[in-house]
Amino acid sequence: MNILMVASECVPFVKVGGLADVVGTLPKYLKELGHNVKIILPKYKSIDGKKYNLQTLPFRLNVQVGKSTQSFRIKYCKTKDKIEVYFIENMHFFNRIGVYGNAGLDYSDNKERYIFFCRAVLESVKALMFRPDIIHCNDWQTGLIPAYLKTNLKNDGFFWSTSCVFTIHNIAYQGQFSASTIEEAGFSWEDFTPDKLEYYNSVNFMKCGIAMADAVSTVSPTYAKEIKEFNGRGMEGVLNSRHDEIYGILNGIDYDYWNPLTDKYIAANYDKNKLNNKKLCKKDLQKKCGFKVSDNMHLFGCVSRLDNQKGFDIIIDALYSLKDCDMQFVILGSGDNEIRDKLKKAALNMPKKVAVFFDYDEKLAHKIYAGCDSYMMPSRFEPCGLSQMIALAYGTIPIVNRTGGLADTIEYYNHFTKEGNGFVFNITYGENFVQTVLKSDKIFKNKQNWNTLMLNALNSNFSWDKSIFKYEKMYNNLVVNKLKETIFSRS
Ligand code: ADP
Repeated sequence: MNILMVASECVPFVKVGGLADVVGTLPKYLKELGHNVKIILPKYKSIDGKKYNLQTLPFRLNVQVGKSTQSFRIKYCKTKDKIEVYFIENMHFFNRIGVYGNAGLDYSDNKERYIFFCRAVLESVKALMFRPDIIHCNDWQTGLIPAYLKTNLKNDGFFWSTSCVFTIHNIAYQGQFSASTIEEAGFSWEDFTPDKLEYYNSVNFMKCGIAMADAVSTVSPTYAKEIKEFNGRGMEGVLNSRHDEIYGILNGIDYDYWNPLTDKYIAANYDKNKLNNKKLCKKDLQKKCGFKVSDNMHLFGCVSRLDNQKGFDIIIDALYSLKDCDMQFVILGSGDNEIRDKLKKAALNMPKKVAVFFDYDEKLAHKIYAGCDSYMMPSRFEPCGLSQMIALAYGTIPIVNRTGGLADTIEYYNHFTKEGNGFVFNITYGENFVQTVLKSDKIFKNKQNWNTLMLNALNSNFSWDKSIFKYEKMYNNLVVNKLKETIFSRS
């Protein structure tokens, strides 16, 4: 199959959150199954042309955004897995410091930026003469692509065999704009109807993606259920109208990259046979944080976007409630300024117990995953969550709220049966994070039990091996349906 992966982030080129990890990893596994996969992204300023040896194709293309004609070039390179990656280069929209915004504020022209990107992607595949069987779109920034395919381009012969998948990585970000977007994006008012592009008299890119794609997926089975039932942020109706075409497919992580045995960022390499080396990583992290170096201190970590979704209010309360315990906390994050200020205050009040780093720092992230005993993830909702899976890969024990992908990956450790890989509480049932932390601390103090738990974590497997076949099956169904549609429409 020819598969085009379209997204606004992808590792190693540009990353804000888990979306980038997924888009950077999934194609590698599809290629191993024999598919011809290409990736297309915006060429942000932060993507270093020299580092990735980007080549520029010898032509310019134009698309219309509102009244302005925007011209762009296509750059490309190959990843180390020999996957072709194309970059849409337009100075006006993408040559800026941030990805979606700067200094905690979204760019005011994100609507125009992603209208442009969606149109440019569709022009680019034609120019590249790459006829995709599947265009796989990810999150609201790509939501207009299925809409163009089903409206303006529905009779375009180039796309006769193309089906479109739309994956929801986080339904909380929707890209909702005024009704006049219809004209700016070049749609016809005839398509401004509730079953197509209209959403309460506005244009919502996420809704367009859900309503117009041939299949919709999201990143864990529990989140698929939650967004249809109660956590769809206004999308419940359109999701339920497509009930049977919504797939919940759990993300995986790249164990070649997240591997404590080969990780070049951490103080000492380890695996389940050399678990003692994890203590050296803990020592290194404690020094970095300015904490007392002691293996008996229970060290908790968190690497995250600073966003209310991630339950930072719960974490901040816990820092104060647990201040007299033999515990230390290290948090790495960037994002919301209010959360940043509260964390900063906690670190100033308790410098021996709380360390905070406000940066996007890949190296420190690895040190935290490796050096901590436990990983805090009390997210109020979590579509899939990769951080808890990464923590497990480093033998670091997740403490999570039972929601979305966290419910699908973390099982409460039972010290009688020795089963389970973490600690789970349930906000909805009024269960308490601090109590769960204290319970985990009891297990931590029993070194034999904790060792068993670390081994369970290290033995947890969330590779792409299973999920990849689910994606392939979904794609196959669409290709077969498209073929049937074409045959019937001709007979
Ligand atoms: P989300 O996609 O909601 O941000 P995930 O848990 O799915 O959350 O993925 C987050 C990814 O981003 C993980 O790989 C995590 O390590 C990484 N990450 C988040 N914030 C930072 C940061 N400040 N520095 C380095 N890595 C980060």
